[in-house]
Amino acid sequence: MKALQTELEARHRQHLYRRRRVVEKNDGAELWVDGQRLINFCSNDYLGLAGHPDIAAAMQQGVRDWGVGSGAAHLVTGHTAAHHALEEELAEFTGYPRVLLFSTGYMANQGVITALMGRGDTLFQDRLNHASLIDGALQSRSKLKRYPHNETVALSGQLRTANGEKMIATDAVFSMDGDLAPLPALAEIAAQQQAWLMVDDAHGFGVLGEEGRGTSNHFGLGPTEVPILMATLGKALGTFGAFVAGSEALIEMLIQQARSYIYTTAPPAAVAEASRASLQIARRESWRRERLNELIVRLREHLLKLGLPLMNSPTPIQPIIAGDAACALAWSQQLESEGILVGAIRPPTVPEGSARLRITLSAAHNDQQFDRLLNALSRLQQ
Ligand SMILES: *Cc1c(COP(=O)(O)O)cnc(C)c1O
Repeated sequence: MKALQTELEARHRQHLYRRRRVVEKNDGAELWVDGQRLINFCSNDYLGLAGHPDIAAAMQQGVRDWGVGSGAAHLVTGHTAAHHALEEELAEFTGYPRVLLFSTGYMANQGVITALMGRGDTLFQDRLNHASLIDGALQSRSKLKRYPHNETVALSGQLRTANGEKMIATDAVFSMDGDLAPLPALAEIAAQQQAWLMVDDAHGFGVLGEEGRGTSNHFGLGPTEVPILMATLGKALGTFGAFVAGSEALIEMLIQQARSYIYTTAPPAAVAEASRASLQIARRESWRRERLNELIVRLREHLLKLGLPLMNSPTPIQPIIAGDAACALAWSQQLESEGILVGAIRPPTVPEGSARLRITLSAAHNDQQFDRLLNALSRLQQ
């Protein structure tokens, strides 16, 4: 047996100890922790929809109509007309033949990869992919090759010598860096090498592309170029859950084979009703994306002026690299003492030596809140 206490103490010394905050109240752009009011610059609620009253009302109506629990897995009796309608609306919105809902994005990635890939197959993943894609690969028992971040030449070389079924899987917007994957080039390589291309658009869906259709749409790509699209509903859409979009055959195969779809209780129908309402609002209210873009431009101009390192990110994820974990933590604590909440992201979530502040912007931030962030950043001790 390991000495857990010793291990925990070691984490403390390395500034890698993680702890949760108890949020006492959440008011969209601001939250209360330990009685202190903080402006939230680390949520993924990019469009400011998580607390939207119409979405809350849709969920309440859903509870009245369907009760709270779904009572069973989708393949038993948990798949309601609400889930089904959401799948059809997402298919229509994304332009894919079919969509399948999953309880979470983590489970969607596991489900797709384990259903399609197995022993003797080879999976290619960007080195900075989200942990859920990596874990799916490990669980599938296929061979995992991680290529250097966004390096399509290296990927092509690796693909040429691979065996079995081949799949390229990538974040569309990298969750800790905010930059985009070169999807057109990846799609070309996948087509040439007869490999699947799976795109995880957790951070692009709702934010990028026409009416928020996501990163593939931003690049002008569709189901032919990106045959497997995954996106989550818990980020820009402000609700909970995830979906996979693909061909008729792909979705039918997932229903047969994806263990994280089959062996779990369907999410509450009321959550599906909330997501349906949110999808309509996210599409319609393009001012939310315009507001986000305005904030992104203003923040980047400010960081440039301060001489802080800018990442190549056109998205609401705007990291500031500190390097070592202690510095990232000190920055985050300094901001917090000024009423600004920004998470310090440390290894193993990001590579060693690239600990950072990860600022995320939301359409919910008003000018006054945003200016407080800029002023607090001006005072960071470099
Ligand atoms: C958040 C996230 C997921 C997981 O989605 P959940 O619905 O929160 O489980 C998957 N991939 C990426 C890139 C993410 O950022």
